[in-house]
Amino acid sequence: MKYDIQKMRSYFPVLKQEVYGRPLIYFDNAASTQKPVQVLMAQERLQNDYYGNIHRAAHYMADKATGDFETARDEVKNFINAENREEIIFTKGTTESINLVAASFGEQFLTPGSEIIVSEMEHHSNLVPWQINALRKGAKIVKLPISESGELQTGLLPELISSKTKLIAVAHVSNVLGTVNPVAQIIETAHKRDVPVFVDGAQAVPHIQVDVQSLDADFYAFSAHKMYGSNGVGVLYGKRKWLEQMPPYQGGGEMISEVSFEKTTFSEIPYKFEAGTPNITGVIAFSEAIKLLRETGIDNIAAWEQELLRYATEQLKAIDGLRIYGEAPHKSGVISFNIAGIHPFDLGTMLDKAGVAVRTGHHCADPLMNFYNIPGTVRASFALYNTKEEIDNFIKALKKVAQMLA
Ligand code: PMP
Repeated sequence: MKYDIQKMRSYFPVLKQEVYGRPLIYFDNAASTQKPVQVLMAQERLQNDYYGNIHRAAHYMADKATGDFETARDEVKNFINAENREEIIFTKGTTESINLVAASFGEQFLTPGSEIIVSEMEHHSNLVPWQINALRKGAKIVKLPISESGELQTGLLPELISSKTKLIAVAHVSNVLGTVNPVAQIIETAHKRDVPVFVDGAQAVPHIQVDVQSLDADFYAFSAHKMYGSNGVGVLYGKRKWLEQMPPYQGGGEMISEVSFEKTTFSEIPYKFEAGTPNITGVIAFSEAIKLLRETGIDNIAAWEQELLRYATEQLKAIDGLRIYGEAPHKSGVISFNIAGIHPFDLGTMLDKAGVAVRTGHHCADPLMNFYNIPGTVRASFALYNTKEEIDNFIKALKKVAQMLA
């Protein structure tokens, strides 16, 4: 299939705008992607035509909204090839998905002296919730270290796993380095010792094929806003066998079976974990984002983004004093770099004035910044609508800015 980039860009009207009189080049996709008209229209359709609270009322509006909400669950299930729709829980984002498992799995399975293995390259979202709940239960976090090239030292896993290990938490793709971690291999190693694995897939699902059954992941989390959907919507996939053993994360409407003043029994999964009114509009519009990814084909998107990655990396490497962090052979379209003697924040601010949106700072990955002994990086991250011309203009602007700041 030929990748029709112009057609793809036409779905994203926001890309046509200028900032500071320059055409917008949006390279902050790892933070959040822009939304296509399909998603924006779905949001509007719901609000204009049939908005109602889901699962509760016996009237047309609620019924139609409920139907579309549950269709979104099926879309997600099929997209990541989960075995059962009940294994798909809607949350408000990856962060909430991780907190849910850290609190609920933690409550059920952690005891004093338990250990959770967490990698050194994690986003704070996949570290802090484990720390909080480990502290509650007297458990300990064990580090899975990385190497200078930004790869996990998975060879150490057999000795890090012990009878105390209750879970391994790891990113599928690093939000800073772009490293695609060998999660299938990690899961296989862990399962040989009966240890479940939680995969933070926030940076993976929009960019590479994810099949939770073939990975054999126990838990898998991601956010709609990083995959062309609305913010405030996330997914937690969990194997039925775990979710059914875990206590509710929050109490409230929708997650109950029967309530008396003295006692409550809880709903079945997934509803047991969906307390309160969810982001109905966002979830329903999420269907459209997934449809776009599905119809374009993740493999086609991956091939396009790999070409952008290769093209940008080559040109960046030719710039004097520029260092790229993360040189794993298998990367997604994320490039973090610094130029010797220039603070990343200054580079980012000046690039912004040239119309280029990049991210600067620690990217919510302080342990990783500590590993490289740097305060932060500049990060350019690509999406399905970016082009080589944008990369050319970004490189031109970067060279000019670097000269001015040197
Ligand atoms: N994990 C990773 C790898 C991420 O990149 C992010 C977002 N930067 C998160 C977790 C948190 O996602 P959210 O803010 O959508 O909850």
